[in-house]
Amino acid sequence: MRIDLHAHTTASDGTDTPAELVDRARQAALDVVAVTDHDTTSGWDEAIAARPAGLTVVPGAEFSCVHHEEDGRRINLHLLAYLVDDRNEDLRDEWSRLRSTRRTRGRAIVERLVAAGFPISWDQVSTLAADGSVGRPHIARALVAAAVVPDVDTAFRELLSSRQPYYVPKADTDVFTALRLIDAAGGVAVFAHPLARRRGPVVGDETIAAMANAGLAGLEVDHPDHDEDDRAHAARLAADLDLIGTGSSDYHGHNKRTALGAHLTDPVAYERLFDRPTARRPVGDA
Ligand code: AMP
Ligand code: FE
Ligand code: FE
Ligand code: ZN
Repeated sequence: MRIDLHAHTTASDGTDTPAELVDRARQAALDVVAVTDHDTTSGWDEAIAARPAGLTVVPGAEFSCVHHEEDGRRINLHLLAYLVDDRNEDLRDEWSRLRSTRRTRGRAIVERLVAAGFPISWDQVSTLAADGSVGRPHIARALVAAAVVPDVDTAFRELLSSRQPYYVPKADTDVFTALRLIDAAGGVAVFAHPLARRRGPVVGDETIAAMANAGLAGLEVDHPDHDEDDRAHAARLAADLDLIGTGSSDYHGHNKRTALGAHLTDPVAYERLFDRPTARRPVGDA
């Protein structure tokens, strides 16, 4: 069984449509793929409708969250919310608020870049994002199209990272509120890339323990942004806290270099993760 539990589509900052994603999942010989766009479930229907025989689609979303540290710092983190009820009003309202802050904040970043003389526009970025959740990868693509930078990776490193003056944060959801919302909507929560320090500061083990007490079910262990030490540490932490360790590619199409299926979840972990009452079920042949 080849299981990849984290992938993006044009519903957020991936470059494959949901139909293209499930097609690519079969080409990558996957048995299971989760559709986990940022703060939206809008790719689910198309992915499920286009699902090839033999492939199981797990409906999910990647929830933009923040942890308020005792010293006043705010640390951004992502929760994967699987099998939630997409009609749950509280969750829908919160994700709608997040998508709207993504637009306002995307526009603010573009304004800073334009003020610094970079030849891009909000119209162009908004067109690239179409109806999907706007993210910095859309701004990165506009910068590549304008030949400001050679590729998306350079755009992040030189212009879009949180260490750059053009950066504007978004108003993300408190992670403990998010865990309550996911639980109330009948979903399963997994902490995405918990040790991805390359993206910015990460929360400490004591916060992960508090999240485990607040209903977190799993930790992403195998992820492209984790090195060997991170993986070993995440696996140990998962065992200590009785969390389920997963593996996933966090595929974003050509916005990133990682291929779909580059990291996989163990079938036993997959069974354990979803062996509980949930609002939705994975959609497969059985
Ligand atoms: P945002 O959601 O707007 O804060 O942008 C963060 C998104 O950008 C995440 O989903 C990452 O997948 C993506 N990202 C972060 N760093 C890079 C990078 N170096 N190259 C491509 N995508 C990246
Ligand atoms: Fe992304
Ligand atoms: Fe993420
Ligand atoms: Zn992701």
